[in-house]
Amino acid sequence: MNIVKLLDIHHTYPNGVQALKGVSLEIKKGEVFGLLGPNGAGKSTLINIILGLLRPTRGTIYIKNTELTNSTFNILKKDIGYAPQEYVFYDHLTVLENAKLFAVAYGVKDYMDRIKELFDLFQLHEFRNQRAKNLSGGQKRRLNLVLGMLHSPSLLFLDEPSAGMDPQNRHLLWESIEKLARTENVTIVLTTHLMEVADRLSNRLAIIDHGKILAIGTPTEIKRKFGEGEVIEIQLASDVKEQAF
Ligand code: ADP
Ligand code: MG
Repeated sequence: MNIVKLLDIHHTYPNGVQALKGVSLEIKKGEVFGLLGPNGAGKSTLINIILGLLRPTRGTIYIKNTELTNSTFNILKKDIGYAPQEYVFYDHLTVLENAKLFAVAYGVKDYMDRIKELFDLFQLHEFRNQRAKNLSGGQKRRLNLVLGMLHSPSLLFLDEPSAGMDPQNRHLLWESIEKLARTENVTIVLTTHLMEVADRLSNRLAIIDHGKILAIGTPTEIKRKFGEGEVIEIQLASDVKEQAF
């Protein structure tokens, strides 16, 4: 059963950038779905469109078989979690204060239990009384993730969850996300520009570049298609310096 279905999504920003050029895909209930592509591929744009934060120029979005419109958005959003690529917390508040603030905003009852559960899962408990601005890059990213899932959503979007993490931190993240997927009844959609992250975490993944889907399948199917161990080279825009794959 699909939980998200996208039909021919196009998006052109007001400045004329064509960020999405006809994306169609289905995300199945309970899976971890990876959206893999270089910077500027259109990953964040696509997530913002599925979340109803950005209206596509063209195309249709179904969430739980309900078409996403202005009127259905408010009902659907209660059960959706989102950890954006940008940090959403207040620097001058502590880790725990930030979590309480978001829990109240989401209307979570008995939020201390949920906060404790997530702080344990994402190894934040010992930093709970530190101001957010004093955390390391990996700790900040983990706090940002926790703040998006305090209300136990059944559909969770993580935009670049491993950004700013060193390899050791990435391993901690993998364990946390795998455990989350195993223990909570949640479908996870994550974006990354790192093949390693998509390969390790996703049940299925889509490769996206220049606003188009190049391939969809299990990591094994994708590797078979492109040849295991080979480098997939994608032409990057001249202003993008980061190595994508
Ligand atoms: P990704 O998340 O894969 O790095 P994005 O979805 O952020 O890619 O961006 C896709 C394309 O849209 C890029 O060319 C980017 O520069 C452009 N873009 C993103 N946001 C905006 C915006 N608010 N206005 C104009 N162009 C944008
Ligand atoms: Mg992005």
